[in-house]
Amino acid sequence: MTSYEHHYYDGGWQASSGTESIAVISSATEEVVARVPRGTAADVDRAMTAARAAFASWSRLTVEERAQWLEKLAAAMKPRVPQAAEAIAHEVGTALGYATKVQVEFPVMMIGMNAKFIREARLEEALGHSLVVKEPIGVIGCVTPWNYPLHQVVCKVAPALAAGCTVVLKPAEMAPISAFMLAEAAHEIGLPKGVLNLVSGSGRVVGEAIVAHPEVDMVSFTGSLQAGRRIAAVAGEGIKKVCLELGGKSAFVILDDAPLAKAVAAGVNNCMQNSGQTCSAWTRMLVPRAQHDEVVALSIAQLAKLTLGDPFDAATRLGPLASAGQRDTVLGYIDQGKKAGATLVAGGGRPSHLPKGFYVEPTIFAKVDNRMAVAQEEIFGPVLCIIPYDTEADAVRIANDSPYGLSGGVWAGTPERAMHVARQLRTGQVDVNGGRFNTLAPFGGYKKSGIGREIGPLALDEFFVLKSIQR
Ligand code: NAP
Ligand code: MG
Repeated sequence: MTSYEHHYYDGGWQASSGTESIAVISSATEEVVARVPRGTAADVDRAMTAARAAFASWSRLTVEERAQWLEKLAAAMKPRVPQAAEAIAHEVGTALGYATKVQVEFPVMMIGMNAKFIREARLEEALGHSLVVKEPIGVIGCVTPWNYPLHQVVCKVAPALAAGCTVVLKPAEMAPISAFMLAEAAHEIGLPKGVLNLVSGSGRVVGEAIVAHPEVDMVSFTGSLQAGRRIAAVAGEGIKKVCLELGGKSAFVILDDAPLAKAVAAGVNNCMQNSGQTCSAWTRMLVPRAQHDEVVALSIAQLAKLTLGDPFDAATRLGPLASAGQRDTVLGYIDQGKKAGATLVAGGGRPSHLPKGFYVEPTIFAKVDNRMAVAQEEIFGPVLCIIPYDTEADAVRIANDSPYGLSGGVWAGTPERAMHVARQLRTGQVDVNGGRFNTLAPFGGYKKSGIGREIGPLALDEFFVLKSIQR
């Protein structure tokens, strides 16, 4: 795999002001597969100067010009799909097939979709004697996590650029390679200098320097609740807009008239995607008490179909977790669940046949009480909690009894009943009766899952500020 020695800003590859590098570790082999520079606040400062300078001209390009740049960027990423997927399979542990489709092809497509969104956006509106104009907010500081590394970068960079903003990006230390490939693609097409800037480094040093920098007009962050809190506080000092995409503990409500086998299979697959390292995963399965044992049996059977193994093996559905730290956190939660009295019905430890790599067996707890830590806190691993409920109202209450509100699902015997429950859930997304992911639908949280929305045409609005001109 390619290593990178330089940051990318002001239209070129720039030497790091720090002397250290970050080792990128393969989740499956535990070996160092690449290195990127460990930047400092001085690198951030230079990148900010470039982003500020570029904003003046980039924001004045026509919508059509910016749309064409995005289409060129998407085209330049296409030949990089296999390399980016391979990098993410190493970094995150995502099975290569899934990594190719979901981790890379989808975000590359999303770059191009933003060209369409900005072409179709309504940027001016007459209200009485005012003309209300949407203008780009300015320089965006982007800080992203490791679990869907390219997707999370594109969710910020593509609409920001489309809207006329410029960007300074810090990708996650654990999974930075695909962001470097995006910078390479930008360089290859000759994207105007300073529009997309990349500084790699730690959250504590480079991340904080971005968030605190006086040239940043808005911070767009995806990551944990803990880091989000800190970022919102630092940005608040500077009266900067923040968009926060944080964690989740989403509920999947199965109603008593649902087609059980279908619903349970969908629920297990959703919870386990990317080995549970998915912010929107349905990690709580709420089931009618009378059907609890049947659901447990169906869940165990579905789980058996999800082969755990090497992300580069074609038979693998679930790879290792991203890091030793992530593995240990998840094992710690499994231990807590057992101690709290949840019934372990599948998995629960490290697989003995995979001695190398950060593997954790996909795990199911049954008869979980929603007040237990395993039901309240984000585990971010392959752990499903099956929670029995008594009435529909009880199910809604339990689903909403969470500090988070990112995603969720409902399966009922009729669309009407599913919709009735979906409307009562305090969460940013709900899939009813197997509703599929929609690339046009805004994504983001209620409650402590965050502030603001990403994905689709409505996400562009985060990057605009309104000006009212009275005539
Ligand atoms: P994290 O530890 O919060 O890190 C996210 C990013 O923030 C990383 O780039 C990190 O740098 C940086 N960072 C950490 N502390 C910072 C600070 N004080 N100032 C500035 N930057 C800082 O999260 P993670 O462990 O990578 O990712 C997992 C979390 O992300 C989960 O909670 C998950 O639910 C959430 N997530 C949410 C969504 C969503 O859309 N809602 C999507 C995906 C993931 P380092 O590289 O040094 O760690
Ligand atoms: Mg972290």
